[in-house]
Amino acid sequence: MTFLKKRIYGLIGLPLKHSFSAAMHNAAFKALKINAEYRLFEIRPQDVDDFLAQLDKNNINGLNVTIPYKEKVLKFVKLDQESSFLRQVQAVNTIAKKDGAWTGFNTDIAGFSRHLKEQFDPVGKKAAILGAGGAAKAVAYVLASLKVDSISVFDVDHQKSSKITDMIKEIFPGFTIYPVDKIEGLEVKDKDLLVNATPVGLKEEDPCLFKSGQLHSNLFVYDLVYNPAQTKLLALAERAGARVSNGLGMLLYQGMLSFRIWTGQEAPRQVMEETLNSGLSVKKYNSKKEKPC
Ligand code: NAP
Repeated sequence: MTFLKKRIYGLIGLPLKHSFSAAMHNAAFKALKINAEYRLFEIRPQDVDDFLAQLDKNNINGLNVTIPYKEKVLKFVKLDQESSFLRQVQAVNTIAKKDGAWTGFNTDIAGFSRHLKEQFDPVGKKAAILGAGGAAKAVAYVLASLKVDSISVFDVDHQKSSKITDMIKEIFPGFTIYPVDKIEGLEVKDKDLLVNATPVGLKEEDPCLFKSGQLHSNLFVYDLVYNPAQTKLLALAERAGARVSNGLGMLLYQGMLSFRIWTGQEAPRQVMEETLNSGLSVKKYNSKKEKPC
């Protein structure tokens, strides 16, 4: 009798306290009776090269990658040749063995695109993006592909904002996207869509990104942060009468795609969604007295 070794998957990043990925994927493995486990690998920067070099030895079959290792992981993988985005942008959030080689994929793009389109029609709309890191690349790419009218981008690191706008202009010649050097430059009052692609909002002590009065009721505000379920930004936006979404649906859809890449099986959506919803923290800024900002 042969015993099959448990397959290990996981998320590599630092810190990972906020992550729901392990609960979501372990529930999916259980539902489909797959002998596998998803672990959180909180790896220190000085250990990350060794960790990645020993994936096979440690029986690791696939990983999601998050901050701060998205760039780092590029050295260890070949890019999925089926994805033109990956060839152009080189942002990876999922790795798996394909034809014997560690290969990089991006499931954030399809995850964000699917979740946004369920709630908002972006065609011809004016958009603003906060942040210019790995997730912002996916967001900007999706919005340009979905034919928004224009995008303004703000990151505390102005070079990153310029890099992302140059990248999108190269991929979509003639498209209007511009970096701004302060948050007010996003001109949110004239926008239809605001996307937070920074980690601001993950921690309770994080500042408010906007002041009361800067957001308005014609805005759709999408925060990639999903834990807490209601960030200060979303609370402020709701108070301004805006429609809002956190990033939980994006997490679900990108997770379902990673699952399929790793296992070759359709992900069990219902069980994954129920697991995510059951882990959500309760809304915090729901009373008139308790102001978010
Ligand atoms: P990242 O690569 O570190 O990018 C974040 C960027 O935001 C960095 O350039 C950072 O600059 C900048 N930033 C930080 N504070 C800022 C501020 N106050 N104003 C403007 N820019 C600011 O991170 P990422 O991988 O893109 O992820 C961003 C967030 O999205 C994280 O919270 C992540 O968990 C979330 N996310 C969610 C999903 C989902 O499925 N829902 C998927 C992917 C990512 P510095 O580096 O100089 O601080």
